[in-house]
Amino acid sequence: MSRYNSFHDYFYNKFNKKILKLSIDAGFTCPNRDGTLGKSGCIYCSERGSGDFTFKDLDSITLQMEKQRKILERKWPEGLNIAFFQNFTNTYAYVEQLRKIYYTALSFENTVGLAIATRADCLSDEVLDLLSELNEKTFLWIELGMQSVNESIIEEINRGYSHTVFDTAVDKLKERDIKTLSHIIFGLPGETSESMMDGIRYINDKKLFGVKIHSLYIQEDTPLAKIYKEKPFELLSKEEYINLVVEAISRLDPKIVIHRLTGDPNRQKLIAPNWTADKLSVLSGIEKRLKVENINQGCNATF
Ligand code: SF4
Repeated sequence: MSRYNSFHDYFYNKFNKKILKLSIDAGFTCPNRDGTLGKSGCIYCSERGSGDFTFKDLDSITLQMEKQRKILERKWPEGLNIAFFQNFTNTYAYVEQLRKIYYTALSFENTVGLAIATRADCLSDEVLDLLSELNEKTFLWIELGMQSVNESIIEEINRGYSHTVFDTAVDKLKERDIKTLSHIIFGLPGETSESMMDGIRYINDKKLFGVKIHSLYIQEDTPLAKIYKEKPFELLSKEEYINLVVEAISRLDPKIVIHRLTGDPNRQKLIAPNWTADKLSVLSGIEKRLKVENINQGCNATF
């Protein structure tokens, strides 16, 4: 029995089939990269806009989905698809262009939902209207990079908008009954274990649909690499990260779906910490600790 509400369990219960997430690079950029707000981006953002494993060279969305589907269906031939718009800011375009892109993905055979990663400051009313329309037709969720609720940390990571902006976007999505997933990074410089748990409290308070928890890692093609090389700072050990994740799971509302518990570094470009490249070992460490300490999601939650 799973000790937390995992992506696999949630979706298997919902659709009675394995869900295959097909990640797409739809060719977007980001206001924090194209000069509108800045050029260097968030300090941890890679050249590929935090989507290092999509098939960028295949310029059609359908071809990208076909290629991933072919790989995944060797193992799960009966699986259903969720199209995941991953790289950069996936609502940063004219609405008619967005409509075309999203409906192209939805029309791909066996696709039952859409996941759209974007920024909280890129959700105009027009975009929200389109998302509401899609929300009526399919299983939709929006992924937002919260990372921290601490304003000084948010400034340090150069995200380009405040937590207040994030909070307003979450409320607007909720008003429209659109599911929101928040990303959170453990181990950002300046965070304490309690300030990281503030992020978990916030996710509980807002009753979000889902969360992805990542550990901070340094990858070669990011502004953070330069910062780290000039002035190395302490990174979480594997044991510290596992402790934080177990604590977070114990405090997280059991209704919230946990989509990830590890980061996804590109091994060829990873500088540190090395343990983040071994996701399976991190996950098994988390599972083991949950079992040994008899912890289930939400067992220490206060709401
Ligand atoms: S918002 Fe996303 S794509 Fe834009 S700079 Fe930050 S991590 Fe990169």
